[in-house]
Amino acid sequence: MKKILVTGGAGFIGSHLCERLLKEGNEVLCLDNYFTGSKRNILHLMDNPYFELIRHDITEPYFAEVDEIYNLACPASPIHYQYDPIKTINTSVVGATNMLGLAKRVNAKILQASTSEVYGDPKIHPQPETYWGNVNPIGLRSCYDEGKRCAESLFVNYHKQKDVRIKIIRIFNTYGTRMNINDGRVISNFIVQALKGEDITIYGDGSQTRSFQYVDDLVEGMIRMMNTDDTVTGPVNIGNPGEYSILELACEIIRLTGSSSTIIFKELPEDDPMQRKPDIRLAREILNNWEPTIELEQGLLKVIAYFKEILAEG
Ligand code: NAD
Ligand code: UDP
Repeated sequence: MKKILVTGGAGFIGSHLCERLLKEGNEVLCLDNYFTGSKRNILHLMDNPYFELIRHDITEPYFAEVDEIYNLACPASPIHYQYDPIKTINTSVVGATNMLGLAKRVNAKILQASTSEVYGDPKIHPQPETYWGNVNPIGLRSCYDEGKRCAESLFVNYHKQKDVRIKIIRIFNTYGTRMNINDGRVISNFIVQALKGEDITIYGDGSQTRSFQYVDDLVEGMIRMMNTDDTVTGPVNIGNPGEYSILELACEIIRLTGSSSTIIFKELPEDDPMQRKPDIRLAREILNNWEPTIELEQGLLKVIAYFKEILAEG
């Protein structure tokens, strides 16, 4: 039985990861400060004696004997990471330093949840891991983008300088059940608006694109990455290459919910990337032919059912 620490474990992705790691017979320490996560996401795991909950902020040092660390703690939605940009940078940079220090001390393997945002508003399409990106270092998104880029650098240098066993994955837009209803990201916003019959708010003209991955496919990729041999460090893209414009997404959600909502257009936020799509050839190669398996329609239907339940609870 492995002892595994998941930082940000009460968040959207973290809660799915904790659930899967427990199912595989591991002992899981779920660490979170509940900034965007919630106990509700992991309530169903609380009866499991191999599940432990720790209220802690990763910008402060933490110590525990563990075999593996998944470092997910960081707000991921633009409205939340822009709420306190300095804190966001510290969570990525000081938080990563603390977790890498822990990994070194207890000789644990550590995986960093990095992001497609390290590519910024990309000039190369689709984005391979070899692309260095196009990031505005002082823009609205920089607290997140540059924080995550610095964390990648810290990971690589702890590996080179101190022999820490690292894994870096770059996660592309991921959605699924347990997204926060007030998360602010596009899929949760559109579904909640459609179910409530409210206007669907497209920022810009809706021609910008994203590639949406269902959370189960991501969790599978994360675990496969952690289990690669020590020579594999990444970074590796984990995402679904299916690419949709935001307007197409809005129309699809209206169709699947049967909503009478109207689409309205609002101003595009600063530095909003125009296109995004992962090149996943490396993931296929090093993660035993890993491939996303859940089509957009199938995944959206699961999330629609989830938000219907949440809204019914009031
Ligand atoms: P989320 O906001 O649901 O989860 C983040 C979790 O981290 C929350 O539970 C939050 O309370 C916790 N947290 C934040 N700051 C913390 C701190 N200082 N100390 C301890 N806990 C803290 O977001 P998510 O979508 O589940 O994202 C999880 C990770 O995956 C993040 O690191 C994010 O950057 C990365 N990621 C997500 C996506 C995506 O599309 N969902 C894409 C790229 C990368
Ligand atoms: N978006 C939108 N309406 C919303 C929320 C988001 O049009 O209510 C757009 C946003 O401007 C961006 C895309 O949808 O172009 C994806 O936004 P999200 O915040 O989900 O992720 P990110 O921009 O970080 O990829």
